[in-house]
Amino acid sequence: MKLLEYEAKELLRAYGLPVPRGQQVESANTVLNLPFPVVLKVQIPKGGRGKAGGIKIVANQAEYEPTAKELLAKPILGCDVRSLLAEEKLEIGRELYLAITIDRTTGLITLLAHKRGGMEVESLSNDDDPLLRIPLSGSPGGAVSKQLSRYFDLQKLQVMLSHLYEVFIKEDALLVEINPLVVLTDGGLMCADAKIELDDAASFRHAGREYEMAISSQFIELSATGTVASMANGAGLAMATVDAIKAAGAEPANFYDVGGGTDVEGMVRAFQKIAAMPEVAAIVVNIFGGITRCDEVARAIIEAQKVCKYLPQLYIRLTGTNETEGQRLLEAAGITFYPTLADCVQQAVASIRKAS
Ligand code: GDP
Ligand code: MN
Repeated sequence: MKLLEYEAKELLRAYGLPVPRGQQVESANTVLNLPFPVVLKVQIPKGGRGKAGGIKIVANQAEYEPTAKELLAKPILGCDVRSLLAEEKLEIGRELYLAITIDRTTGLITLLAHKRGGMEVESLSNDDDPLLRIPLSGSPGGAVSKQLSRYFDLQKLQVMLSHLYEVFIKEDALLVEINPLVVLTDGGLMCADAKIELDDAASFRHAGREYEMAISSQFIELSATGTVASMANGAGLAMATVDAIKAAGAEPANFYDVGGGTDVEGMVRAFQKIAAMPEVAAIVVNIFGGITRCDEVARAIIEAQKVCKYLPQLYIRLTGTNETEGQRLLEAAGITFYPTLADCVQQAVASIRKAS
C-alpha cells in the first residue's frame, strides 16, 4: 500500500524526522494556521505532481482560496484530488535523494542516495551518476553515515539515518523515500516530499491504523506496465479473468476479488488504485452472481463510478443471480455491458490497440 504524502509525513514526524509545518486542506474554506507564503500540494498516490501543475505556491490569503479551489476541482495525472497538503514554504538550498528499500537482486535492505533530488529517480539518465547503494545489515552506524556525509558533503546525518531505518523496520515498509531531502539555505535538513510503501502482508501487525489508499488483501498489483485492469467475484474467477486478458495479448495490471461485491467503499478504493496505475486504459469487470447479487454489484459499480470520475473505460459482464435487475440498473445509468467475458476482454484489448 502506498501512503499519501501527508500520511507519510505524519509517520516520519512521529519517528523524529524533520518535516515542514503543514496542514491538510479538504476545501477552499479550510482556515490555514500557517504563515504565508504557503505551498499547496495535491494529495494523490503519484509522483511528478510539480510538473503536472499539482503544486502551487500562494503568497497571501487572497491567492489562497482560488488556488485551493482550482487544485481541488480537477484531476491531476488522472487522479481525483480529495485533499491538499498546505505547508510552510521552504528556503531551498539543495535537493537530495535519500531512500531505504529492499534491493531486489541482493535481497538486502539498502540505503539509496543521490545528489540530484527533486526529480523522479526513474528518470535519471545514463549521463547522471548512478544511485549510491549501501547495503545495511542493521541500523546504519558511523561508517555508513560517514560514507553518506562525504557523498552529500553534509554533516550530522547519523540521527536522521537511524530514524529513517526505524521507520522502515517498525512500519514494515517496502520503501521509505525522501525526495527531495532539502538542504535549507540556513543549512538545516527537511523532508520536503516523502513516498512510503507499506507491506500489505504485514498489515495485521498494525491493526487499527487507517490509510486512504488502504485496500483489501484481495487486491494485488501485478504489473506497473499493465494496460488492462480487472475485477471479478471470487478468487478463481478473478484468476481466470487475469488469464483471459493475458491470453488475449494484453498485460494484466492487477488481480482483484471483490468478494460479495457490495462493498462500495472497497470498490471505490480499488477503482482509485487502478486509476493511479500509469498504463491502465481499460477495466474488465467479470461478475458471475451466485450468492453475489448482480443488482447489488451494479449499484456498487454505479456508486463507485460516481466517486471516481476519471476512470478508464469499463468492460462489464454481469450474469447470474438477479442479473435482469442488475443489467437494468447499468442500462439506466448509461453503462454498457457485454454478454460474455470473451466479449469484454476482446473489446478491452481492441480499445488499447486502437489507442496505441
Ligand atoms: P512531486 O513533484 O510530486 O515529486 O512533489 P515534490 O514535493 O517533490 O515537489 C516538487 C518540487 O517543488 C520540489 O522538488 C521543489 O523543487 C519544489 N518546491 C519549491 N518550493 C517548495 C516548498 O516549499 N516545499 C516543497 N515540498 N517543494 C517545493
Ligand atoms: Mn517528489
